[in-house]
Amino acid sequence: MEKITSLAKRRGFVFQSSEIYGGQNGAWDYGPLGIELKNRIAQAWWKEMTQLNDDIAGLDAAILMHPRTWEASGHVENFTDPLVDCKKCKSRFRADQIPEENLSAKKCPDCGGELTETRKFNLMFNTHIGPVEDTAGLIYLRPETAQGIYVNYKNVLQSSRMKIPFGIAQIGKAFRNEIVTRNFIFRTCEFEQMEMQFFVKPGTDEEWYNEWKKRRWAYYERLGLKIDHFRWRQHDPDEMSHYAKDAWDIEYLFPMGWRELEGIHNRSDYDLSRHSEYSGKDMQYIDQETNERYLPFIVETSAGLTRNVLMVLCDAYDEETVEADDTRTVLRFHPHLAPITVAVLPLMKKDGLAELAEDIRQELKADFATDYDQGGAIGRRYRRQDEAGTPFCITVDYETKENNSVTLRFRDSMEQVRVNRADLCSRIQKEIKEYKRIK
Ligand code: ATP
Repeated sequence: MEKITSLAKRRGFVFQSSEIYGGQNGAWDYGPLGIELKNRIAQAWWKEMTQLNDDIAGLDAAILMHPRTWEASGHVENFTDPLVDCKKCKSRFRADQIPEENLSAKKCPDCGGELTETRKFNLMFNTHIGPVEDTAGLIYLRPETAQGIYVNYKNVLQSSRMKIPFGIAQIGKAFRNEIVTRNFIFRTCEFEQMEMQFFVKPGTDEEWYNEWKKRRWAYYERLGLKIDHFRWRQHDPDEMSHYAKDAWDIEYLFPMGWRELEGIHNRSDYDLSRHSEYSGKDMQYIDQETNERYLPFIVETSAGLTRNVLMVLCDAYDEETVEADDTRTVLRFHPHLAPITVAVLPLMKKDGLAELAEDIRQELKADFATDYDQGGAIGRRYRRQDEAGTPFCITVDYETKENNSVTLRFRDSMEQVRVNRADLCSRIQKEIKEYKRIK
């Protein structure tokens, strides 16, 4: 993980938040390459959900919601972690994450000092709205995006004339006052989620649940990731959330071990029945054909966007021995996810090659995310692009001046082929479409 963290900083993927002040725990900033990668992961998910499914609509709900929302959802009461403090070194731990023997002996795993009793700690950040800090102005930063979907389900239904079964997809920030933030951007206090809530008729929920499990697995397969680094894990009955009828996680093999990447939950009619109860509004669905009325069941797919960024970085990272004493670091991103798709490199700055390369880049800009680099030996420039995960490099040389052909170099195989300038765009598009990861 250290290697990934340092590459991420060096190449402008992720920086520590407020670094010049010593850093802010649990918060990270996405640099020029990081924001592109994050956006592409978000776009891939959004396309998968909304463009490829006629029965899923998008939504962007506010982060600040009426505080009753969080009473209805059960977060005020239940969204807690067990917390213990060390009286000596003042370290804080999640009681369920330290060895059992330390907990029972009340002994700090770091310094051996005495631990406090376990107490419940609510993970929701709260603040105040309005000029006076009183309880009337108490408001929460949303700890998940899902509730914004539930409270809007009738608005979406009516405005888009959808019928059950249908889904609502949303990407947005969520905030949790995590007791322990560790492992780079894996667990942070400010993060982003990609959630899709699918509303179904009770009785069909199990079928839909299995369908969404299948679709989510197939999605990760299509992204060209190392599929042997993915596995399913079912929640134990004692770990299951208060609302869940069934819950499985897709776990990924991160450098620190298998960890949750995405949760797929059968939430029953818990959410809508609670919002009916707390708001006094009828949340029932009326089937226009049969006149049946019922509270829909909800099948949820909930993935961390920022956690997906970490997963994609870990999955793509490779150190490859090219020759006996020559190793390259390469990020093997799928071309759909790579922050830069094509880099254009003039062999030399002189003799009009730089201008010609700039001209070619200009031509490609409309279709691809491009970069231009004219500094240093060509081999070093290729390596810089490998480290940024750029799948294609185009080199402009003296032959280009003569016959309008360029070298197209592939990141993964390091192979080079000669391509006519006029065919470049369609060739790259074809390569992206047919991309298969070789390592
Ligand atoms: P965990 O057990 O890891 O705390 P969770 O089961 O509470 O996660 P969910 O509430 O199901 O997580 O959230 C759905 C997804 O949101 C998770 O699979 C994860 O990808 C992401 N996520 C949750 N908490 C965080 C966090 N603190 N930082 C980054 N991503 C998070």
